[in-house]
Amino acid sequence: MAKLLTGKPVAAAVKAALKDLIAANSLQPRMLLIQAGADPASEFYVQNIVSNGAKLGCEVILRSLPADVSQAQLLDCVEGANLDPSVHGIMIQKPLPAGIDDNLIGSAIDPRKDLDCLNPQNLGKIILEAPGPLPCTPLAALCTLKYYQIPIQGRHVVIIGRSSIVGKPLANMLLWKKPFANASVTVCHSRSQNLAELTQTADILIAAIGKPEFVKQDLIKENCVLLDVGINAVVDAQGKQSYVGDIDFNSCQDKALAITPVPGGIGSVTTSLLFLNLVQACLAAQGVNKNIDDFLGLIFDAEKKEITP
Ligand code: NAD
Repeated sequence: MAKLLTGKPVAAAVKAALKDLIAANSLQPRMLLIQAGADPASEFYVQNIVSNGAKLGCEVILRSLPADVSQAQLLDCVEGANLDPSVHGIMIQKPLPAGIDDNLIGSAIDPRKDLDCLNPQNLGKIILEAPGPLPCTPLAALCTLKYYQIPIQGRHVVIIGRSSIVGKPLANMLLWKKPFANASVTVCHSRSQNLAELTQTADILIAAIGKPEFVKQDLIKENCVLLDVGINAVVDAQGKQSYVGDIDFNSCQDKALAITPVPGGIGSVTTSLLFLNLVQACLAAQGVNKNIDDFLGLIFDAEKKEITP
């Protein structure tokens, strides 16, 4: 039976480090969270961000815009926050309504206030291994591996999914010349012809597809580590809704060494990292620049100290 890699302790370690940083530097981090339209899943995420902010001592200003908001209105909203020195970070809740150009909105965010790495300048920095905010979900995958001390260096990591928010940035982050990365990476997608051949060679398989329970036992190698990024709403025969991942947990848990659950896995780590980016932006506004190595040290070295007898 695979070891369960739950997200709760990972998120708790991140939040504990953030609370210490906020107190030690007397920070008053402030985020503008922009939501457009009333997507039920978005509503859940938005409330989660607001309640996490309150617990961490970060102010979250929620700007709820109607589904028929124009691109110009959205751009105005972003521009206003860019110019407001009391706002340290901007988060755009996806999906945006049809007709809005996501890339245009992302590009309009001041790169210093870009909490989910939507600005192309910040995405480019990932390739260069230059300091900057990192996208929350890929970072959640890295932090989960680090927390559970799963070695990545030299391992073959296969990612299914090539989106700009998960698959592509995560692949680049795993390639970094850093001890917590240094992986050999393969990225698969909807046009990959020999998917099973590729995924069966993965030491670590990461699914970010958006298809319920797509990864079955026959796609995975014995004793691999499985990270499930997918969050899919499904309705059973009785009409009851629940959430499942992109990995068929029941069939894969007997073959894998370790697996993240859905819900309660990567998704529960993601929001804590949104606040890491906010705290990073708030510190930078005070002239204190911390990079990802600093943060990982603060989060995970403290954690190690706690468990060392
Ligand atoms: P997306 O739709 O932008 O990308 C999906 C990717 O899956 C595409 O690159 C596509 O090529 C690939 N794909 C689709 N069908 C495939 C197939 N049959 N074989 C191989 N590859 C296939 O999705 P996204 O925004 O990257 O999100 C993916 C999943 O992750 C969704 O379930 C989403 O809800 C979830 N998600 C979770 C978090 C989190 O915090 N855990 C954050 C963002 C997204």
